[in-house]
Amino acid sequence: MQTPSGHVYDGQGLCACPQCDQLHRLPALKENTHARCQRCGTTLFRHSQRALDRVLALNLTVLLLLLIVNSFPLLSLKVSGRIEQADLLSGVQALWQAGQWELAALVLLTSLVFPLLTALGWVYLSGSLRLGKQPAGLALVYRLTRQLAPWSLIGVFMLGVLIAIFKLLDLADVIPGIALAALATLLVCSTAARIFQSPNLVWPLIGPQIEIRHDHPHALEHGLHHCHHCHLLVNEELTQCPRCHSRLHARLPNSINRTLALMLSAAVLFIPANVYPVMTVTRFGVGEPSTILGGVLQLIDAGMLPLALLVLFASIVVPGLKLLIFTLLLVSIRLGSSWRPLDRTRLYRFVEVVGAWSMVDVYLVAILAAVVQLDFLATIQPGIGATFFAAVVVLTMFAAHSFDPRLIWDNNGKT
Ligand SMILES: [Zn+2]
Ligand SMILES: [Zn+2]
Repeated sequence: MQTPSGHVYDGQGLCACPQCDQLHRLPALKENTHARCQRCGTTLFRHSQRALDRVLALNLTVLLLLLIVNSFPLLSLKVSGRIEQADLLSGVQALWQAGQWELAALVLLTSLVFPLLTALGWVYLSGSLRLGKQPAGLALVYRLTRQLAPWSLIGVFMLGVLIAIFKLLDLADVIPGIALAALATLLVCSTAARIFQSPNLVWPLIGPQIEIRHDHPHALEHGLHHCHHCHLLVNEELTQCPRCHSRLHARLPNSINRTLALMLSAAVLFIPANVYPVMTVTRFGVGEPSTILGGVLQLIDAGMLPLALLVLFASIVVPGLKLLIFTLLLVSIRLGSSWRPLDRTRLYRFVEVVGAWSMVDVYLVAILAAVVQLDFLATIQPGIGATFFAAVVVLTMFAAHSFDPRLIWDNNGKT
């Protein structure tokens, strides 16, 4: 059987689950099917002959849409005959002008630069492979593209724009721009592309021909290390992956201590993030600083309860839940607990998936600060609380990436 990139897959590929380290010998798969880990349900291998074409087409579309998004206004605000326009970069400019360059850089990187680099990386990889060529610098481009992907937050940005539109409705007429439609299409295309962008598209599924001992299901117990990036199984004596040149570790180094330090820092910063105002709304010359919780209460007062709940969930419930879940995971691993490993893995996946959505508040501040510059009528200035809050989100995302979920299963040789 040919894998999409043309690598021969004999239907006997040996691989280890990236989330629980269980060894699997994968059978030959039918077209458009995928194999999941028997124990924790993680997708191990996706078989689709046309995946390479799809990834190339979808990422080329993403590049085209990014061009459109940056060429037209996202939304316009019409008040007393005046029209204020905001495009993708207006939020970055507003934050920069308010002296919050850290926040400006974060918004610029996550809403434009990283999505652009990720799409370019995949166009280069899939385009070269489609032409039957080994891309120059394959290992480096693949690793960088893979590392940047979790920081491309187009979907979260889109949600920020939608919340901003609802918030602005009581202030003025909001006219959605062409870029908003392009952004929505871009979100669909990049989400579809992510489904097909699996490591096995680039790297063949090969593994050492060994017998799996069923009383020892972990790759580590067979003296094998799993490469985090290309999923190759390598003898534990090697320190660097022979294929993608990543450093190899049995488990992510200092995973527990690193995650703990990052979560503690996030917990400390969560206090100023909630105490200081995230923005100051000035109406008719009267300034009114508003904290995250204050913003939620304002939304409730304005009768926008679903929106208030959404902001409350993304900005307060999610960071709080992340702190609680990581405390539970770290304590249970430290105690050597074998308690419900599957449920603990699911908790980790939840944190990993929903974590980035907290960034919606940061985008909201950026967009509002960009569009509400109506002199005496109303202006919105970003506050220092937004910077603290962004730091909380970034630190918890780093914490999720430094946590090794295989540690959960290390005390569960047989389950
Ligand atoms: Zn697994
Ligand atoms: Zn590798």
